[in-house]
Amino acid sequence: MPTPCRAACKNEAGICSGCHRTMEELAEWRQMDEDKRASKMEQLTGTLSTHCCPNCGESAFCDISAGKDTCWCFELEKRDASSLDKTAGCLCRKCLAALPVE
Ligand SMILES: [Zn+2]
Repeated sequence: MPTPCRAACKNEAGICSGCHRTMEELAEWRQMDEDKRASKMEQLTGTLSTHCCPNCGESAFCDISAGKDTCWCFELEKRDASSLDKTAGCLCRKCLAALPVE
C-alpha cells in the first residue's frame, strides 16, 4: 500500500509533522479505496493542487476550492493566523502546521 509516511510521525495539533496528513486521514488511510488514496497522495506531494500557498509559494490543495463541503484543515486545532493576510488564500499543509496553535 502506498503511504506518504516518512516514519517521522508526530501529531502537531491535528496534523502529522512528518507526512502532513490530518489525524483523520491517517486513521482512514487503510479504509480508503485506491483512487482516493492516490488522489490524496498527489495532494500531499503537490502534484494535485488548487492554488499556490501564499506563504511559501508551493502547491497547496483546498478541498473547498475542489468542490467539497469541508476541508482537511477543519480537523486541525485552530492556528493563530493573525500575522497572515487571510485574503491571500489557504496555506499549504506544511505552513499551516508550522503556525502556533491559538
Ligand atoms: Zn506553504
